[in-house]
Parts: sequence; structure tokens; C-alpha cells
Amino acid sequence: MKITPDIPISSLRADLNGRVIAPDDPGYDDARGVFFTGFDRRPAAVVRVADASDVSLVVDLARETGAELAVRSGGHSRAGHATSEGGIVLDLSEMNAVEIDAEGRTAWAQAGVKAADYTKATGEHGLATGLGDTPTVGVGGITLGGGVGFLVRKNGLTIDDVLGAEVVTANGELLRVDAETHADLFWALRGGGGNFGVATRLRFRLHEIDEVVGGMLSLPASTEVITGLVAAAEAAPEELSMIANIIKAPPVPFVPAERHGKPVVIALMVFAGDADAGEQAIAPIRALATPLAEMVRPIRYPEMYDGPEGLRPGFDAGTNMLVDTFAPGAAEAILEHLETSTAQMAAAQFRVLGGAMARVPDGATAFGHRRAKMMVNVAAMYESPDEGPEHEAWVGSLATALSDGTSAAYVGFIGNDGDQGVRRAYPPATLERLAEVKRHYDPDNLFRLNLNVPPAVK
Ligand SMILES: Cc1cc2nc3c(=O)[nH]c(=O)nc-3n(C[C@H](O)[C@H](O)[C@H](O)COP(=O)(O)OP(=O)(O)OC[C@H]3O[C@@H](n4cnc5c(N)ncnc54)[C@H](O)[C@@H]3O)c2cc1C
Repeated sequence: MKITPDIPISSLRADLNGRVIAPDDPGYDDARGVFFTGFDRRPAAVVRVADASDVSLVVDLARETGAELAVRSGGHSRAGHATSEGGIVLDLSEMNAVEIDAEGRTAWAQAGVKAADYTKATGEHGLATGLGDTPTVGVGGITLGGGVGFLVRKNGLTIDDVLGAEVVTANGELLRVDAETHADLFWALRGGGGNFGVATRLRFRLHEIDEVVGGMLSLPASTEVITGLVAAAEAAPEELSMIANIIKAPPVPFVPAERHGKPVVIALMVFAGDADAGEQAIAPIRALATPLAEMVRPIRYPEMYDGPEGLRPGFDAGTNMLVDTFAPGAAEAILEHLETSTAQMAAAQFRVLGGAMARVPDGATAFGHRRAKMMVNVAAMYESPDEGPEHEAWVGSLATALSDGTSAAYVGFIGNDGDQGVRRAYPPATLERLAEVKRHYDPDNLFRLNLNVPPAVK
């Protein structure tokens, strides 16, 4: 049985600038919830921190009491790491300010801001930093993992635009880190996840990205369309980044009713460049089949995050692979597997990489798989924990069919995969270096609710 330590809630309340939400407080049920609704845990306290001094206070309290510490920005961890049974949730969602230096092309973002809110704020100046496909993902979480998004081929990973950070480490100290100061920690933060401390603010480079050709294109999914789409995305100029999902069409109004339940491609894409060049780059994709829905057009970049919220599943049995080739027979395997899945939603997703992401040397950040040609995600979303084994088996079977034999994976999409996940996310030299940084800044592994890098043993 897990022993939960006593947490002195009333003295925490007295000392804090933000809010403590304990089990008897109104709003507790909302406050304890995370994106994946199946993680129905009851923390001793959800602490909505207001500033870095609150963060230090909570870190000190967790260290001193031995309480489990969950750090949450946007709450999208697939492993449920942003909540805890009996522990403390350090919730940064109210630390969501963005300070923009439009002339200097930089922004300081508090880590709890959501991807869409950050992008809307910078978009007011015609500027952007590339983030992922989901508006409510926290900038803190996505950035520390790497950040593979709508501008990955044009500008690189999100971490390639990180210029500095403020971090509260395990001893409660607030450090300002960049390429010159605490350079080892700065290196580890860019891809090493939440292992090293709580990032309170991140300083980003901004790019002039205003009007783009972007939006969603849906095509009927056949083997020809899927393989053609991969080939077209690989051949496209690097201004074009695409996230293509192959799913059974949900009953949504933009897909014709006769197509509901049948396999479709839902591709989100951004061409970050001139509109005519964008139309040309996208033409071969549009030509693959008569589109079922066609919403790709000149837009302002922040509009990529408009639209209805997606599904909020209980759980996601999923895996991720960074591969060099789209395996022979992959398209057939996707279609066959979609046919048999009983999940609430099952998906194969691919993102062709390369471009700016691949030009950064492997050792420059803790994201060590720079030259992977493609990211493949396999996901099966479901409601009840009893269904887990069935969907895990489905995911495993499709992942085997899509694998090219490499084991590399992206930390942002790895679930609770323990040591094996850590080894897939980090090549040996990266892992060794991360373990050293961990030993220095968090020798007792206070920050362990994450894809955990154990501190190096002396
Ligand atoms: C629907 C969905 C879509 C996604 N799309 C993309 C995508 O397009 N591209 C992409 O790269 N990733 C994507 N992801 C993965 C996502 O980036 C990771 O799950 C990320 O960790 C979520 O960040 P969060 O702040 O929302 O989650 P949280 O659950 O709050 O955080 C996840 C973990 O990150 C750490 N953490 C978070 N904030 C901090 C902080 N401020 N300081 C220290 N540690 C922190 C903690 O260990 C925490 O457990 C997606 C995930 C989902 C569920």
C-alpha cells in the first residue's frame, strides 16, 4: 500500500501567492482532472502556482514531506504523469503570461500557457514559434520533450527556438539558464523532459510567420493514397510540414455521410511561405484523390488552432516510432488494422521530418534522433481500463508492421514505458549525459513522474 505523507495544507495556503485546491474545496474535481479522463486520481492538493516563488515553495514541500510531485503545464501526458494519487500536483496553468519583444524577435512565455494562446499572442505581431497540432497542449510540456509541429521542417523542433529558461531545481532554487549559464542544464532541458526541474518561463526565438497556406485536407484512404501521400510529403519543399492521420471517419459534418466509418486521411498541413508556391507544393497532394473535405487555404498562422476541441478519451494505448523508411506493406497494414480495431478511435499518424530539424547536430540538444525521416504514431483510444490489453495488443501489432527495425522514439508521445522507453528516446551517449546532469541537479530523483532518467551513480 502506498503511504501518503501529511501535507500541511493550511500553512501552504498561508504562504502561497496562488491557490491550493484540496479535496474539500470547491472545484477539486475539475482541478484534479487531466486531458486523458481515465486517470481518476485524488491528489492531496492541486497547487495553482502564481509565480516562481510559489514553485520553489511547492518543490521544497514535496522534498521535505516525501510527497509524490506531479508537474503539470497542459496536462496532456499520455502516461498520466500530470496527476498523482495522494501527492501534490504543481499546476502551472495560471502562469500563462507571454511577454513579446517584437523588434528583437523573442518572447518569454510562462510555462503554463497553452499552444494556441501562445500562438495567438505572438501572431498579433505576425510572429510565431512552432508548436504541435493541439491547441490545449502546454508550452511547458511540449517544449521540454522537443516539440514536433506545424513548422518542424521549416524552422526545426520547438527546442531549436529556445534561447533560455528559468527553472526551479530540486533544492528549490530558481536558476536562469542559457547557452552560457548552466549550459549543461540548458542542454538537458531541450529534449530531456521534466527530469531536471520545473521550468517556470521559457525564452523563445520568434519567426516572421504570418500568412501561410494551411488547414485540413481529407482524402479517402486507400493503399495508393497513403503511399502517394508519404511520397508527396517527402518530395515537398521544407516550407511544408504535414501531420497526416489515417482513421475511420467519424460522423462529422465535413465528411460526407456515406464515408462515415470508412478509412480516411485527415491531413493537417502548413506551407510557411509564399501563397503561390504553397498552392504548387500542395497540388500533388490534392491530386491523389477527390478530396472529401478541402479546407487548405491562405490563412493567418494562428488560425491553425481554430476549430472544435477534439475527443477527450479515457486512455490512449499508443506508441511512437522515429523511422527512416515507410515500411513496405505499411499502407495495407494500416487499412487492415483499422478494420479490426474496436477502439473509440484508432489512428495511424505520420509526419515526414527533415529540413531544419535535421540540420541541428545530434549532440546539440538532448533530442538525439535528428536525422529520422519520419515520425509514426499508432494510437487506440478507449474508455475503460479493462479494455487496455486488447488495444495495447492492437497497437503492438500495427507498430510491428510499421517498424523499419529501428527503435528510436519521441519522448513526447511515449507513455509509461519505463527503462525501455528511456532507451528508445535517448541514444546511449545522450542518456549518459542526461544521467550526469540529473545527478547534479536532482540527485534524489524528486522529479520522477516523467519518462524517468535515473541519476548517474558516482
Ligand atoms: C492530443 C495530443 C496531441 C499532441 N500533439 C503533439 C504534437 O503535435 N507535437 C508534439 O511534439 N507533441 C504532441 N503531443 C505530446 C505532448 O507534447 C506531450 O504529451 C507533452 O508532454 C504535453 O505537455 P503538457 O504540458 O500538455 O502536459 P503535462 O501532462 O502537463 O506535462 C507532461 C510532462 O511534462 C513535464 N512538464 C510539463 N510542464 C513542465 C514544466 N513546466 N516544468 C517541468 N516539467 C514539466 C512533466 O514531467 C509532466 O509530467 C500531443 C499530446 C496529445 C495528448
